[in-house]
Amino acid sequence: MRLNHQHIPKALLDPTLFDAPSYDLHIEAGHIRSIRANDARPTATLMSCPVDIHVHLDKTGVVQRTGAACGDLHKAIALMAAERDAFTEADVNARMQAALLAAYGQGTRAMRTHLDWMQVAAPVSLSVFEGLREAWRGRMVLQAVSLTPLDFFVEDNAAEAEALVQRVAEANARCEAASGEAVLLGAFVWKNEDLRGKLRLFFELAQAHGLDVDLHIDEGLDADARGLRVAAELVQSMRFEGRVTCGHACSLSVQPHEEAVATLRKVAAARMALVGLPSTNAYLQGSWAETPLERGIFRINEASVIGVSTSIATDNVADAFFPYGSYDLLDTFAFGVQLAHLHPADEWLSSITTQPARAMGLPWDGVLRDGAPAHLIQLKATNAYELITPIGRERRVMRRGEWVRAV
Ligand SMILES: [Zn+2]
Repeated sequence: MRLNHQHIPKALLDPTLFDAPSYDLHIEAGHIRSIRANDARPTATLMSCPVDIHVHLDKTGVVQRTGAACGDLHKAIALMAAERDAFTEADVNARMQAALLAAYGQGTRAMRTHLDWMQVAAPVSLSVFEGLREAWRGRMVLQAVSLTPLDFFVEDNAAEAEALVQRVAEANARCEAASGEAVLLGAFVWKNEDLRGKLRLFFELAQAHGLDVDLHIDEGLDADARGLRVAAELVQSMRFEGRVTCGHACSLSVQPHEEAVATLRKVAAARMALVGLPSTNAYLQGSWAETPLERGIFRINEASVIGVSTSIATDNVADAFFPYGSYDLLDTFAFGVQLAHLHPADEWLSSITTQPARAMGLPWDGVLRDGAPAHLIQLKATNAYELITPIGRERRVMRRGEWVRAV
């Protein structure tokens, strides 16, 4: 199969290829066989299939039962806690499966979901997740993260904490690591008392059990929420570089520029990946009593300039934390482009493809090059501006070199 006159953003293209207005691709046996530069005007945009590095498949689709929190994160946590006790396997399975079908239909090729994990015993959502991971193997790479309040990781509770991490490590051992599957250790970090001591214990346990880490961190607009800085300092001093992802980091947006940039430099030195969640942040952060002025997105442009891995992801869909949304990552991306002034938009497609693919350690980084798998999306957009319009985001999805419409 040939795809001619395709615009490919530089960030997604083999850097050894010449800069050109468009490219012609030869696809064969499920792979890209060649990419040639062309002087012709592009007729479409080509990208690798997106990677959604931060979702909550256990919570999704319950907003009709819980109601929405309208800007109050801690109310959302309470609403969800009441609902979670009633989760059954069948209910979780149906909601997760619907989310996977929706994401797959839009072209997503990998997802990392957080699973609420409140006690030593694994939640019901883990066994459901593992069943679906097997059913979807070969179509979608699935990773999971345990999501536990950081206060669980305190010296007084060290035996319980150790036991929980042991369960997470056992779940990680059941993964097919070569295909990119993993189970990570996670925590919710928000202005905890003795934050440094708890995070140190948390990282020690992750290291001892060989687990990568993904944190919900500083999800709020208090300038004195400095979990990200503490995490970056610990990661460096404990030689845990390159193993940690952090989502949210909203408080960076309200700290003085110099302080935020100094933290981002530490994050870069610790080779931590940051994930912006524009739709949930915009919904939960900022005033609800009057028109909000703060938007909650972390300083994603500054982070990118400093060299921090920067991804954009979906986060919550149709739950107490965010009652709207979809599993079309290009939709959240378009919102993020406008919310955070990401420019040029086509080059920022790396934030939903190559950046999260590397942060997740996937076998393919999402760069279009000779020999790469032909998991591609062809968009109607022929330039960066059309990319943000609904018509520009109309697409055909290619899996293993074949056009597919849905599952
Ligand atoms: Zn989240």
